[in-house]
Amino acid sequence: MEQTDRTYQKWRTYLFRTNVIFALIVVTMELVFAVMIFSMDFLSFTPWVYLVSFLLVPSACNALILISGWLLMRHLPQDGWFINYVPLLQMVLLATVITCVHYGFSALLSLYCFPVFASVIFDNRHMPRTMTVLGGLLLLAPTAVRMNAMMYDGELFRFPFEAVVALMILVSCNLISSMLIHFQAEKNHLLRSTTRRQMAMREQLERDLQTGLYNRPAFFRQLGEMVNRGNTFSVVMMDIDNFKVINDTYGHLRGDQVLLALAELMLSYCPASCFPARVGGEEFTILVPLNSRDTTFLVNTIRIEFSRKRYPSFREDGGITISCGVAQWEPGLTGQEIYHRADLAMYYSKRTGKNRTTIYTPEVGEAAREDAPQQLPYTS
Ligand code: GH3
Ligand code: MG
Ligand code: MG
Repeated sequence: MEQTDRTYQKWRTYLFRTNVIFALIVVTMELVFAVMIFSMDFLSFTPWVYLVSFLLVPSACNALILISGWLLMRHLPQDGWFINYVPLLQMVLLATVITCVHYGFSALLSLYCFPVFASVIFDNRHMPRTMTVLGGLLLLAPTAVRMNAMMYDGELFRFPFEAVVALMILVSCNLISSMLIHFQAEKNHLLRSTTRRQMAMREQLERDLQTGLYNRPAFFRQLGEMVNRGNTFSVVMMDIDNFKVINDTYGHLRGDQVLLALAELMLSYCPASCFPARVGGEEFTILVPLNSRDTTFLVNTIRIEFSRKRYPSFREDGGITISCGVAQWEPGLTGQEIYHRADLAMYYSKRTGKNRTTIYTPEVGEAAREDAPQQLPYTS
């Protein structure tokens, strides 16, 4: 079931409960009135007639309306178009029962407005209109009962102004409800576009402008999330070999082209589940949701492919290379610790001849420690 269907299901239940409470209030008030009326003894008919016509019959009708609605709500498909009408139909029918019973009390005709307003919940422009038409038609029932009673009592025919006024109020409710639905739709649209803009801004904030990869803060945020999730993953550390020499020989602009070439390779080889980032000048990382062995396969593909690249006007004596380190996360390791391990493995690759990939082991860590920075990385 979709999220909207679940929300509508929740609100149908709330409306149903409101209907039950309404029916209970009606019964309670009828009982209170019965006690008051009989204790004052000013009714012309017998207690039994009163109980049947004001309490038993209407309560039975209300119970029937509530039970049949409840059954419909349980058995109809939860994502069907009709199911949202069920609690509203209950409301309009309950209003009809009480207005027919108390036909002389014209203020009760305003009860037909409730289902029109309540239909706004379901965000469907047709619903207020349908409930208005239905309410308008059912208004005829108490009007007919009233006129019939007047004829029975021998009164003169009187135009049912109350019903006409009630109809006009109902039509106004429809207009207001339609306006509310339009307003809600406009607000939702605004909210959606703001969220989209915010997401685009966040995406921009997390990017390294030069290469288009994720930047250092984004990398550490993602690393923290992956540690919290607790699934297997590996951290890859990559550093371009002798990059200073490249800069010194060909200039920084050509150096930038090399950085870009590596970033493009990373993006083309990393599947969507990976998180490639630039964490320093010529230092790159990838978070890979795989163990270190499978990760090494991916890293070596990038490393070999990168070393095969040739750059216009660069000397043709072999390509530019990278040294890599891979460390697999283990439960209990913090983000900083796993990052440090990948760094140590990368330093080991540098130490043992560059242009290679090393998987972190405690021995590797021990051997590389002299070269690597002693501090855990600054992550803020
Ligand atoms: P090693 O093989 O040990 O990694 O040696 P290296 O020369 O690559 O490392 P070193 O740390 O000595 O030099 C890194 C160089 O990267 C120095 C710096 O000028 C350069 N660099 C950092 N950021 C950029 C950048 O955005 N563009 C360019 N062109 N160079 C950069
Ligand atoms: Mg470096
Ligand atoms: Mg370097």
